[in-house]
Amino acid sequence: MDLKSLWINIIEVLAKELPRPQILTWFNKTALLKNDNGTLEVGLPLPYFLNWHQTHLVKKILEAARQVDTSINKINYQVDVSLNEDHSAAIDVSKHFPSGKSRKLPKQNLTRSKEGVVSKILNPDYTLDNFITSPENRLAHAACQNVAMFPGQNYNPLFIYGGVGLGKTHLLQAAGNEAIKNNPDAFVVYTTTENFTNEVIQAMRSKNMEYIRKKYRRVDLLIIDDIQFIANKEKTEEEFFHTFNTLYEAGKQLIISSDRPPHELKLLSERLISRFESGMIIDVRMPDYETRLAILMEKCRKAQVFINQDVLEFMAFHVNHSIRALEGVLNRAIGDYHLTMTAPTVQSVAAMLRQTQKKEIKPLGIVDQAPQRKGSVSIDHLIDLVTDYFAIQRSDIVGSSRARESLIPRQMIMYLANTKLRMSLVKIGKHLGNRNHTTVMHSVSKIKEKLKTDRQLLRDLNAIQKEAGMH
Ligand code: ADP
Ligand code: MG
Repeated sequence: MDLKSLWINIIEVLAKELPRPQILTWFNKTALLKNDNGTLEVGLPLPYFLNWHQTHLVKKILEAARQVDTSINKINYQVDVSLNEDHSAAIDVSKHFPSGKSRKLPKQNLTRSKEGVVSKILNPDYTLDNFITSPENRLAHAACQNVAMFPGQNYNPLFIYGGVGLGKTHLLQAAGNEAIKNNPDAFVVYTTTENFTNEVIQAMRSKNMEYIRKKYRRVDLLIIDDIQFIANKEKTEEEFFHTFNTLYEAGKQLIISSDRPPHELKLLSERLISRFESGMIIDVRMPDYETRLAILMEKCRKAQVFINQDVLEFMAFHVNHSIRALEGVLNRAIGDYHLTMTAPTVQSVAAMLRQTQKKEIKPLGIVDQAPQRKGSVSIDHLIDLVTDYFAIQRSDIVGSSRARESLIPRQMIMYLANTKLRMSLVKIGKHLGNRNHTTVMHSVSKIKEKLKTDRQLLRDLNAIQKEAGMH
């Protein structure tokens, strides 16, 4: 078996155990570089993959590999940024492991018109597949899956409630998309309560309430988002009650979302509340830290941007009230990244959070200290920053390792020490494990040369300089 097929086989085994976003995030652009008597050398496209692989994946990969080939006994890693470019050995995960589920739905399916009924378009980007589950939302996710599979049978109505930005709309739309996929003839309507209210007002104006009744009569799955807005709208509530009953009695599925449980809704009709309570009521809460981090990583992967793990961890840690807010912070960071060619840092994100959330953002580790003045940055401080940034050890830098994951960071330190700190080649060599000054000179010119074409290197260097207050 050639190396690439072997690697694909191993990832296939892993894919049975690991959630798909993990496979997408941590195996894209990876490669099997060598199989040396059972020692596999796995190529990683970016330095920050290394830390995650070593702490979370290496054991699992070894187990999976041994299922494919029992002679495999060890996994080594090699960071090779050239895997990012069209490298023939690198795996394109979404191509090799296409997901039946995340395939985009043709729009015609979503806005079919039966007897003049037009549903609000479901957003095909919201799928059950790309919703990341955690104990706080797993039940809601599973119920949506069930309802999409067996509409009108098990959980009817399905009532999902929780605070803003926690994924209710995502789940509701995903259930609609999934239902259409399971049964392309199903007539699915997603509407917001606001939209429904407007329709009622329109119908009242034109004195044609029959219109609404006709309109919704043929629906197989009615999804209505943010039902709390129906409060104090007497006529809308009445109309909704009517629609609800018609569909419910015909065995059609209803999915409803709200920011609070049914009994806290300020409805006029107790009957509607008890209708809601007769089905399945599930709350969604804010996912835990690990899930928030997984969500961020998945979004980065999708946007094809690479943000340092430290920075994502910092965001996931501090933005703990809403996924929408978390996405907002990430999007701002991505915006900055494209605009300034500078990778976001813990420091820049902390500043951003201080602006948007009035709360105190506690510094985490050295990277959030006040920027040092140019003169005060020492090479030791530089080594700390760079090893932190690439999640490697100081011994990798000052030691004799020639592994790529320490080679480039070491060269970057030499370059910065020489061009920014104005240190002599001899002195730099002394600090970095007594290296010869010609080695240092060679490294500095290597980085200079690379900077002309390697945009990732430029971003990394910019980020480190920013962190060190060297700008
Ligand atoms: P709500 O309707 O509860 O206010 P949304 O469904 O609009 O929240 O979610 C806000 C954003 O967060 C959306 O972009 C959604 O895709 C994303 N999101 C929320 N929860 C998750 C999750 N568990 N996995 C992936 N994305 C999520
Ligand atoms: Mg919503």
